[in-house]
Amino acid sequence: MEQEGTEPHVLIFPFPAQGHVNSMLKLAELLSLSRLRITFLNIHRIHHKLTLHADIQSRFSRFPNFQFQTITDGLPPENRPIGKFSDLIHSLKSVTKPLLKQMLISGQLGPTPTCIILDGLFNFIVDVDAEPKIPIFSFRTISACSFWAYSFVPKLIEDGQLPIKGEEDMDRIIDGVAGMENVLRRRDLPSFCRLEDPFDPTLQYGVTQTIQSFKAHALIFNTFEDLEGPILSCLRRRCSNIYAIGPLHAHLKSRLSGEDSPPASESSNCLWEVDRSCLAWLDAQPSKSVIYVSFGSVVVLRESQFREFWHGLVNSGKRFLWVVRPNLVAGKDGENGVLEELEEGTKERGCMVSWAPQEEVLAHDAIGGFLTHSGWNSTLESIVAGVPMICWPQFADQQTNSRYASEVWRIGLDMKDVCDRETVAKMVNDVMENRRNELMGSAIETAKSAISSVEVGGSSYSDLERMISDIQLLCQ
Ligand code: UDP
Repeated sequence: MEQEGTEPHVLIFPFPAQGHVNSMLKLAELLSLSRLRITFLNIHRIHHKLTLHADIQSRFSRFPNFQFQTITDGLPPENRPIGKFSDLIHSLKSVTKPLLKQMLISGQLGPTPTCIILDGLFNFIVDVDAEPKIPIFSFRTISACSFWAYSFVPKLIEDGQLPIKGEEDMDRIIDGVAGMENVLRRRDLPSFCRLEDPFDPTLQYGVTQTIQSFKAHALIFNTFEDLEGPILSCLRRRCSNIYAIGPLHAHLKSRLSGEDSPPASESSNCLWEVDRSCLAWLDAQPSKSVIYVSFGSVVVLRESQFREFWHGLVNSGKRFLWVVRPNLVAGKDGENGVLEELEEGTKERGCMVSWAPQEEVLAHDAIGGFLTHSGWNSTLESIVAGVPMICWPQFADQQTNSRYASEVWRIGLDMKDVCDRETVAKMVNDVMENRRNELMGSAIETAKSAISSVEVGGSSYSDLERMISDIQLLCQ
């Protein structure tokens, strides 16, 4: 055992949201498998939810050098709604940031970390130039392509391509973004670019955090070279130290399969209680006959949109498995009233659950397509499972991800900015039947390259090894 002080100690701090905690926990597990000392710092209320529903404690107890620590986000007590994003950011800046500094100085988190793997959505939480000076590895939970698009927003504002000048401007191609020539239209830029005021704090927040990420010691992406190689090359011209180590869930699975005594259960990092009954329902369905529908952990539908999706799914004539989170439909009545009424008509060919074991669902033989909001974790999970997508992006990076899925990777159809039952039914039939061979062909090829990237000698495998040895070098 190395002596305390010379042993690398990595502090990992995710932004308090499902997709962020999920992927950063996977990274924590990967680094623990490489015997690094890890402190995983979580916001209290996230940690509380996580330990309620997931097998987290038992999974991590097998690593003697791993510890969870928690910190407040400064908002009112546990389980109250977070409220506005700006309130959370304000509170993280005014309460969490000074507290973190104090915890680092006092040794409350253990020996001074060799480096901090910090969620790139809140780079501000550590002052890189203040004492104690600790190298920051900025971890981006979004795709490299959407990160790259964010970094160009100041230039797009400067040369008049933003703000968007109304609906007629939406389909115009964006100029001057290296590596994205003829790919992005205005409607494919991260959603905040649609704001009328280009200096709106939400857009500026995304841009500032992106630009700050370039100032970090290193940048980490949950992506892989074969998928986003051209964009990663562009990024390397702005930041020489980039590690592309994804898809993290596949990476972890691959390394766990080589472990002497892997944990008994699949890694589940869910903040909600998982309803596994849908797996038995899937077992009873024919191969590739079911479309899986999930809009992730944050997207909220209007009641009218919920109805259009439901009618579209039913009219498509295909079987479907739909994740309807308790807060998926806006408004209290929407949630219960609509569900009860529609659930009745669903029984024939559909199954609804409040939260699914998504990775297992996507890997199930009965699944033939995924109607998704194009969150980055969901996109990667679909890619690894070789499941073609119908993309219905709502906010942030999702608009860019869906464009890449349809136009660049050719593994999905983009249903952006449309929500009517005819389109839903048509797209479901296209993915499940009419264009199935074409989409399935590229989805299977992309899955193969994702999986080989995390196997020994693959690009993500090698980048993770390089990152670990770079961290070890930092304490010599
Ligand atoms: N997820 C899940 N069960 C569900 C719905 C989603 O486990 O019923 C997981 C999914 O596997 C993914 C995460 O929640 O890892 C959602 O992350 P993503 O980045 O796709 O979207 P977000 O929730 O951040 O919008």
